[in-house]
Amino acid sequence: ATMPPLLSAIANAGRHGVLVKSAVVMERLGRVDAVAFDKTGTLTEGTPEVAAVRPLPGTGLDEETLLILAAAAERPSEHPLARALVAAAHARGLRLPAAEEFTASPGTGVRATVDGARIAVGSPARLRPADGPAAARTGALVAELEEAGHTAVLVLRDGAPAGVLGLTDRLRPGAAAALASLHALTGRAPTLLTGDNPRAAARLAAEVGITDVRAGLLPEDKVGAVRAQEAAGRRVLVVGDGVNDVPALAAAHTGIAMGRAGSDLALETADAVVVRDELGAVPAVLRLSRAARRLVV
Ligand code: ADP
Ligand code: MG
Repeated sequence: ATMPPLLSAIANAGRHGVLVKSAVVMERLGRVDAVAFDKTGTLTEGTPEVAAVRPLPGTGLDEETLLILAAAAERPSEHPLARALVAAAHARGLRLPAAEEFTASPGTGVRATVDGARIAVGSPARLRPADGPAAARTGALVAELEEAGHTAVLVLRDGAPAGVLGLTDRLRPGAAAALASLHALTGRAPTLLTGDNPRAAARLAAEVGITDVRAGLLPEDKVGAVRAQEAAGRRVLVVGDGVNDVPALAAAHTGIAMGRAGSDLALETADAVVVRDELGAVPAVLRLSRAARRLVV
């Protein structure tokens, strides 16, 4: 017997490095007419590097101690920024104390007790320190790093600003070409949905030619953005990698996860997984689905 078209398409998708979870999904992919991308770990490689370590004057902290506090608090997290901080500490030969009472808030950051101090590490827009001169100085540092295109991460110690770290991530090769193909296929420019700061988001969007950028989003805000497009009659494909993308991957018409460093929950929730992390595979599977659907009567 010859293989039914949708099953052959699944096999072909596999050759492009995409695991499509069912024939139903293979069929749905061809109906997509709008695409929304996550930034960190999806359009970017998701292996950021620590480019700046800035303890706040007056805290008595030096660069190494600030990095130790941040990396120790982040050690239990699987977020790309957390992995970058831990890797930077290890690369400098620093030993990390244990993190106790660890909690993570997707799209915001982490909290933990390190050496008896309550440490918070995360988005400067979400972890607001109490007003005062330290907060003003922190704001200036954050603005300086974000202006330079970094993702700025704030560290609080017992609620007070301890310092700011700047991380930079590289665009995936092939991102601009994949976005252009998707634009041509769907007739609509892809959009960017990110929890990162507006300045870093705008800079990256300009590099790949995205003009519709939503930044500073919490996981539920990503869902809201998808629902708004679907309410306007679009069938939205969400491409993401993180725990923060899980609700949007679930809410969208179709969800695709980046597999190599993607969080387990994102891989389980998505309808398909890009196993080799090549963004060109996304337009490729949409084309395979369309071709297969023409053969299914
Ligand atoms: P994206 O949508 O670009 O993948 P996330 O939603 O994962 O980004 O994160 C959004 C922002 O929240 C980050 O830019 C960072 O400021 C903060 N954040 C989230 N998780 C962490 C973490 N584990 N450590 C530090 N900051 C974090
Ligand atoms: Mg991400």
